[in-house]
Amino acid sequence: MASARRILIVGGGIAGVHAALGARAADPEAEIRVFSEEDCLPYDRTALSKDVLTAGIAPSEQLLFPQVHYEEQRVQLHCRARIVAVDPAQKRITTQTGATHGYDALILATGTRPRQLPGVDAQDVFYLRTHTDAIALQPRLKQARRLIVIGAGLIGLEVAAAARALGVEVDVLEAGDAILSRACDVHTATVIGGFHQREGVKIHTGARIVGIGRGAADSLRVQLASGERLEADLIVAGVGVVPNLALAEQAGIAVDDGILVDEFGRTSVADVYAAGDAAKLPLPFLAQPVRLETWRHAQDHGHFVGRNAAGEHAPFDAVPTFWSDQFGHRIQGAGLLDRSQTPILRAYEDGSHTSFLLDDAGRVRAAVGIDRPQDINGARRLIAAQLPIDSGLLADPGMPVPRIVKQLKSA
Ligand code: NAP
Repeated sequence: MASARRILIVGGGIAGVHAALGARAADPEAEIRVFSEEDCLPYDRTALSKDVLTAGIAPSEQLLFPQVHYEEQRVQLHCRARIVAVDPAQKRITTQTGATHGYDALILATGTRPRQLPGVDAQDVFYLRTHTDAIALQPRLKQARRLIVIGAGLIGLEVAAAARALGVEVDVLEAGDAILSRACDVHTATVIGGFHQREGVKIHTGARIVGIGRGAADSLRVQLASGERLEADLIVAGVGVVPNLALAEQAGIAVDDGILVDEFGRTSVADVYAAGDAAKLPLPFLAQPVRLETWRHAQDHGHFVGRNAAGEHAPFDAVPTFWSDQFGHRIQGAGLLDRSQTPILRAYEDGSHTSFLLDDAGRVRAAVGIDRPQDINGARRLIAAQLPIDSGLLADPGMPVPRIVKQLKSA
C-alpha cells in the first residue's frame, strides 16, 4: 500500500490553517502538519486592532478553531516551531531545534511583518501584528491620554477608533495627501475621515515626520517637516507590511516583493507552494501579478493551495475582498483599486453608499461601500464577469445589485 502523502505547512496564520483544511478536504489520508512560531493555537488577527485593544481578550477567546477541530481533521499543529531551513533537494525542512521533517508537498504561508519606521528607536513606537503585540499595547492604551497614530491605512484608523472608544485623544499622521488611499476610493475615504473627525480624531495628511524623540515629562515628541511638533504618551505605527521571504530565498525560490506563484499556487521550485499574503499571484482580471494582504484572500487562497498541494489542479480566481469596522460602520471592498479608474457613486437615503470603480472599457474593477454588504457581494460577481456595465444602473440605489448580476447572466 502506498504511504500517505506528507503535506507540511509553514505558518499558522489564516492562510496556513486553511491550507491544512483544504489539503484535508482533498486527501483524507494525507499526513498534514502546520508549523507556527507563535506559542498558542492559531487565532484570528482581525480582532487585534479592535476588541483586543479595547477589552484585552485572550488568544483563547479569538481562536480560528478550537483544538478539537484540528484533532478531528487530523491536522498536527506544531506551536513554537520556527522553521529555519528548507532543503528542496532532500525535500525536508528543519526547525530551530534541529528537528527535520520530510515532505511530498510543502506550503509556505509565512505571511508579512509590519514595516518599521526608519531611524526610530523601537522602544518609542508600537507596531501591531501578533497577539503579543496587541496585549503589550492594550494596557498602555488604557493608561494613555494622548496617542499619535502614524499611517492612515486600515490598521492606523482601526487603532484610532479603538483608542477613541477608550477616551484617548488621537492624532493620526498620514504621509500621503489622503487617508486610506490603498483600500478606498476618494469618496469613501472622505466619509470615513468624517466619522473619525466627528468622534474627535485629528487627522493630519501630508505629514512628513523628520524626528521622534522624548519631550517634557517623558512624553514622546514627533517633529514634522512643516515645523509642527506633536506630543503624546504613546505612538502606534501602521505604515504597511513587508512579506516574509527569507525561507523562500534560502531555498532558491523566485521572489519579487512576494513568493512568486502560478495560478495553482506553485512556486518556481518543484513541490513547494506558497499561499496568503506572502504569495504574489496572477489573477484572471488583473494585468500584473499581485500580493494581496486581506484576511479573506488569505483564507480563500490558503484553502485552494492546500487542495492543490494535496493533488488537485484548480486555478485560483477569487475576487479579493476586505472589511473593517469603525465607529459602528461596516466598511467593505472588493477587487483592486487603481487611481486611473472612474468612480460611480450609488448613494442611499440613509447615508450609506457604494462606490463602483470602472476601467476605460466600463468594466467594474473594484467596489467599496459603507454599510452595504449586499452591494459588495454582488460587486464581486460583476468584477469576475469582466463585462461592461451600464453606469446608470450602478448609480441607481433603486436597482438592487443582485438584479444587475442576474441581468448580466441572462444577457
Ligand atoms: P497600509 O494600508 O499600507 O497603510 C499604511 C499607510 O501609512 C499608508 O497610507 C501610507 O502612506 C502611510 N505611511 C507610510 N509611511 C508613513 C510614514 N513614514 N508616515 C506617515 N504615514 C506613512 O498598511 P496598514 O494599515 O499598516 O495595514 C497593513 C496591511 O494589512 C494592509 O494591506 C491592510 O489593508 C491590511 N489590513 C487589513 C485590515 C482589514 O481588512 N480590516 C485591517 C488592518 C490591516 P503611502 O501610501 O503614501 O505610503
